[in-house]
Amino acid sequence: MTRLASVYPLVTTRALARPFTYEVPDGVEQGAVVEVRLGGARQRGGVVETGVEAPAGIATAAVGRTVDLIPPALVELALWIADYYGSTPGRALALVAPLKRARRAEKPPPGARESLAGEPPPERLSPEQERAVEQIVSGLDTGRGGNLLLYGATGSGKTEVYLRACEAALERGLGAIVLVPEIALTPQALGRFRARFGDRVALLHSGLSEAERRDERERVAQGEARVVVGARSAIFAPVRGLGLVCVDEEHDPSYKQDSDPRYDARTVAAKRAALEGAVAVYGSATPRPESWERLERIELGGRLGGSLPPVRIVDLRREAGYPLSAPLLAELDVVAQRRGKAILLLNRRGVAPALHCRACGRTRRCGQCDVALVLHADGRLRCHHCGYSEPAPPLCPDCGSPELARLGAGTQRLERELEARLPELERIRLDADAVARPGAAAEILGRFAATERAVLLGTQMVAKGHHFSGVDLAAVVDADTGLGLPDFRAEERTFQLLTQLAGRSGRDAPGRVLVQTFQPDARPIELAARHDVPRFLAGELERRRALGYPPFRHLVRIVVAGPSPEEPLQALRELRDALGDADVLGPAPLLRLRGRHRAQLVAKTAEPRRLAKRAAQLLAAASPAMRRAGLTVVVDVDPQAV
Ligand SMILES: [Zn+2]
Ligand SMILES: [Zn+2]
Repeated sequence: MTRLASVYPLVTTRALARPFTYEVPDGVEQGAVVEVRLGGARQRGGVVETGVEAPAGIATAAVGRTVDLIPPALVELALWIADYYGSTPGRALALVAPLKRARRAEKPPPGARESLAGEPPPERLSPEQERAVEQIVSGLDTGRGGNLLLYGATGSGKTEVYLRACEAALERGLGAIVLVPEIALTPQALGRFRARFGDRVALLHSGLSEAERRDERERVAQGEARVVVGARSAIFAPVRGLGLVCVDEEHDPSYKQDSDPRYDARTVAAKRAALEGAVAVYGSATPRPESWERLERIELGGRLGGSLPPVRIVDLRREAGYPLSAPLLAELDVVAQRRGKAILLLNRRGVAPALHCRACGRTRRCGQCDVALVLHADGRLRCHHCGYSEPAPPLCPDCGSPELARLGAGTQRLERELEARLPELERIRLDADAVARPGAAAEILGRFAATERAVLLGTQMVAKGHHFSGVDLAAVVDADTGLGLPDFRAEERTFQLLTQLAGRSGRDAPGRVLVQTFQPDARPIELAARHDVPRFLAGELERRRALGYPPFRHLVRIVVAGPSPEEPLQALRELRDALGDADVLGPAPLLRLRGRHRAQLVAKTAEPRRLAKRAAQLLAAASPAMRRAGLTVVVDVDPQAV
């Protein structure tokens, strides 16, 4: 009697997004990754079910050897992701069963290279920390799992709670996954996990070489490493007997994947925890409105051994100096005299965000994308969307005038101004340009930790989870940058950024925070200055309820791109009409990207899966015509930016 199994080929083609029936030997069960022949080519395939019947009239073939084994819960998880995010089982299974390479010779795990020495464990926990750990552990003991929001100011000791919860999971023979948004920016946190758990920690993130990732996964699969620390894709680590998932800085948008399958690691964490009876803990000083409304909350309270720093708002409408106003210069001067440290945030890379002609009024733009080119210190204009670059022209290319003005300021200009005004402060820049090389981020942060009289200046990266003692001043150079974005999360993001940066200073010393803005009365700025998280979230939830935004409804975003402006709009109009009574915004044109004209529809719905499925069916029916017109389409469930 031949055993038959349903196998999904791990290919990206949508046309092959269905199960195929193969003969499998005994011992091959759900979760096996096997070699299969498909249309003459050799592919990998994921076994999702055994003991199935062959469709009538189909001659079945036998599978080849088994190349990998995935925990069955991850197979279930992948099928759910394919369905919820409108992807294919093959693509989703490829997330949980990445391609394996040949094993390397013994090499040390990459954790040592990527971590900085962590702080030693505290002698004892605060009563709030004790209570938090107890609550998580009782979830481990009942085996019923659950989702908890761990809410506490920066410095309130969330990492220690994760560490204790991981210890408790290990004591019970369970594994743990700890997600962090950008691991390269949190080398100290990694150091604390390594100090506590040694080689039982595996590290998984995109900054590792492929061979390193493969070795780390192997250590996890074999049970050698029971605690996985990593970026969003670590949620797919082959941990068996998963008891605990911690999602640190749960508000961070980098948990969303921006290519198909467009999964959100926070949503996937909740699903995986539910499938395995694990406890999921979401930690943040500035939780998402979604989590605040939905999750059971554990409050850690304020920071340990101190209060949050006072925040001073500098009204740029009354100040002449930009990017360095007189109050900011005065504060930096104090830092220099005291041989202290400061952190400056300016959420724009480069020297100047735009080169503007005073004579004809034109701004130099990317020929492929509808955005201004950014001037960089190497004298080139660069497009931050597509990477195009050209030498900065000495004269206006449109009218020949030499009157080219540099509008605004970027991190590189800030660096120059600091050099001119406060040469005694060492400038250490942290932005995407500075960390292009692997390992550069840990190096930069290590240098800042070790240097007296230093300024760490950079984009939102400087506000991420790293901690330094003795930061006297944290300043936001331009708090308005994010507020102008046409996104319903613009206020939430601005509030989070300011509050997170404010939490960076004065962890050990009394720090100061300074916020430069043209809109001192804007709600997120005013409430961030008072560290009033509950009030901000209450207002935000009220607004979202009125407008039907998450968490009250889900969003599904559909973007069509094509060679001309009109066709994407027309395709979306037809789609909108076919979707019928759904609550749909648009179509609205978007910025051109890499020469492609784009437009989007945004649907608000209580049933995202149903709507996405309906849209996918309509788009599939229209796909031959769309292909002829050169149109491409993306369906994004629970998008991060709308
Ligand atoms: Zn001109
Ligand atoms: Zn471009």
